[in-house]
Amino acid sequence: MNSIGHFLSNEHWPGTAGRTSDIINPATGSVTGKVSLASKTDVDTVIEVAAQALPAWAATPPAKRAAVMFNFRDLLKRHTKELAELLSAEHGKTLPDAEGEIARGIEVVEFASSIPQVLKGEYSEQVGSQVDSFSVRQPVGIVAGITPFNFPAMVPLWMYPVAIACGNTFVLKPSEKDPTVVLRIAELLAEAGLPEGVFNVVNGDKEAVDALLDHPKIDAVSFVGSTAIGEYIYKRGTDAGKRVQALCGAKNHMIIMPDADMEQVTDALIGSAYGSAGERCMAISVAVPVGEETADRLIESLAPRIQSLKVAPYTDPSSELGPVISKQSFDKIHDYIDQGLEKGATLAVDGRGLKLQGYEDGYFIGGCLFDNVTTDMSIYKEEIFGPVLSVVRGKSYDEAVNMVNDHEYGNGTAIFTRDGDAARDFWSRAQIGMVGINVPIPVPVAYHSFGGWKRSLFGDHHIHGMEGVRFYTRLKTMTTRWPSGIRTGAEFNFTAGKDV
Ligand code: NAD
Repeated sequence: MNSIGHFLSNEHWPGTAGRTSDIINPATGSVTGKVSLASKTDVDTVIEVAAQALPAWAATPPAKRAAVMFNFRDLLKRHTKELAELLSAEHGKTLPDAEGEIARGIEVVEFASSIPQVLKGEYSEQVGSQVDSFSVRQPVGIVAGITPFNFPAMVPLWMYPVAIACGNTFVLKPSEKDPTVVLRIAELLAEAGLPEGVFNVVNGDKEAVDALLDHPKIDAVSFVGSTAIGEYIYKRGTDAGKRVQALCGAKNHMIIMPDADMEQVTDALIGSAYGSAGERCMAISVAVPVGEETADRLIESLAPRIQSLKVAPYTDPSSELGPVISKQSFDKIHDYIDQGLEKGATLAVDGRGLKLQGYEDGYFIGGCLFDNVTTDMSIYKEEIFGPVLSVVRGKSYDEAVNMVNDHEYGNGTAIFTRDGDAARDFWSRAQIGMVGINVPIPVPVAYHSFGGWKRSLFGDHHIHGMEGVRFYTRLKTMTTRWPSGIRTGAEFNFTAGKDV
């Protein structure tokens, strides 16, 4: 049985709390390990280690910090298959999907390797006579990261490579559902040459999270997870005077215009609604075909493809989607399907009742497709986080855009069309953080930034790219006068400095 503790000073540490949580293989429903749940005292110990490492790391030249990132990138590349296997065994996603997740995480490490260039400041000569002004970005201090189960490698990698490259030290609190891959990656980061105490992992539940949020030495918190928890973390963290960014839940719409290529749309929806069993914050969970005829063609094209999806454990190379993460999640998804049926939506494809031989206790759900969904239904309003796509038949393009904009979430959206006017109008008007034009999952590359609007993000900054650098640094601006011997007399006028 796998026993997972914490990671500090570049070593594994069991902690002192004695509380654990089961790690479950979602394909079988069986317990494969135990993860330690840190107490407040354990969290204090880890933060102290991060605090001791901070001054030397913050003073390390950015080029040396980048050198660690170069080594780290190579190690991640070399160990991708091993990491994907660890990840899939606890998450349930297919191996190619897990490898893809690691590849997207590596992109962030590559971005972090460019930190000397990115941290270059600004300098203005002669803002007044012999007065120069310059700005630098300095690390915020100790950063805490709190991450979800659905991308156990990639989402933490959105955070700590950038934070560390900027000169901060980091304490990561991963999801307790699939913590193993994070600890293996922590070993690789140590092997890459990261000094002790710069990157630390503390496993745990609410007790550990609250201890991080309340601790006076934590300066900034990056959270990714559900909206209910994210809003709580944002409020508690900012009340404690910390900088907080909380990236949260989603309900991503795809608008399908009458002129769209229906085969392209079908391929896009199969991948974006059912890939990773719909457990992606950028999954498309609502399709809005414009016009009855477009809707009929969509259902006709989509339904047989959903019925033929290969649902299987990650160990089967032909698997297209695996199980959902937990029994709780399995039950919640079934509950939503019941609610949709009760409210009169048409279950055009019913993926319930799937039993796989040898995996009877696994949390497998086949792809589900609801037609005739209306905007007052819970299956439209709430995030289901499973392989369930809702089709809301739109009467017009404007009605479809209003749906996107009126929804409380604003993470991602897409439009499929051959009409450049419609596409441009859409990306301009959409009240959404990330927009795809004939791209179903518009996840920005690492040197751009990822983040939603409305109740999909609390805080001011998106994650990775330059937004990540801004979040993990504080701006300092200097105004200097040389030679210092020049006498200007006392200046009572606020603007006098400019005129000397
Ligand atoms: P979650 O909110 O349940 O858990 C996220 C983290 O918060 C975990 O580390 C967990 O241990 C911790 N946590 C859970 N309950 C807590 C509590 N009561 N107090 C303090 N901490 C608590 O999310 P999840 O189920 O792991 O992940 C799925 C969610 O994450 C979905 O809503 C999905 O949309 C969202 N997500 C968002 C993004 C994004 O970028 N917007 C990316 C990935 C996932």
